[in-house]
Amino acid sequence: MSIRKVVKYGTPSLREPSKEVHKVSQKIKVLVEDLLDTMYAQNGVGLAAPQIGENVRVFVIDVSTGDEPLNPMVFINPKIIKKSGAVISHEGCLSFPEAFTDVKRYANVMVKALDRNGRSFVLEANGGTLLARCIQHEFDHLNGILFIDHVINRFDAETQLSKNNLPPLELEHILNEPELEPEIQRLLEEKSKKNEES
Ligand code: ZN
Repeated sequence: MSIRKVVKYGTPSLREPSKEVHKVSQKIKVLVEDLLDTMYAQNGVGLAAPQIGENVRVFVIDVSTGDEPLNPMVFINPKIIKKSGAVISHEGCLSFPEAFTDVKRYANVMVKALDRNGRSFVLEANGGTLLARCIQHEFDHLNGILFIDHVINRFDAETQLSKNNLPPLELEHILNEPELEPEIQRLLEEKSKKNEES
C-alpha cells in the first residue's frame, strides 16, 4: 500500500479510455488500496485509477465529513444505468490543483459496479448530492473525460486554469449536453435573479 503520484492535467493518460477489469485480482486489490491511500493523503473525495497512471476501470470515493467515520467506497467496472435531472456543480479535481469551476451534472444517478471483493452492487445517489456528482466525475475519468469538459462558463474556467499554471481548455473535448442544457439555463437564471435581489 502506498501513496502514488497524481498526474496533472496535460498528461496524455488522463485522456485515454480505461480497460475493463477481468478479475478482481491481488493486483487490483493493491491498486484499490493505493487509490484510497493517495486520495486520503491529498484530502480528496474521489480518485480514479487513470489519475495515478493506471488506465483500468476502477475509482474510489469517500464523501464522509468532519467527525463522521471514514466511508471508503470502491467501484470496479462501474456502469451508470440511470440518470436524470440537472444541477450546477462547483468542482475541482486532484489532477487540477487549486482550480475550481462550475460544471453541468445530472442530479440523480444509479450506478452498478463491483466492490473490492468482486461482488456486484447497485447504488442510487439522488438530489445532486456530493456523492451523486462525485460518481459522475470519477466515472468520466475512466472514459478520458475531465470535469472541465462539462464547463458552464468558459471564461471562468480559463481564468482558473491559467491562474494555477495549468494548460488551457481543450475545446475539442467540451461536451454538448442538450439534455442538461434547459434545466441548467433555468438554474442560472434563478441564481442571477437571487444575486440581483440581494
Ligand atoms: Zn478528477
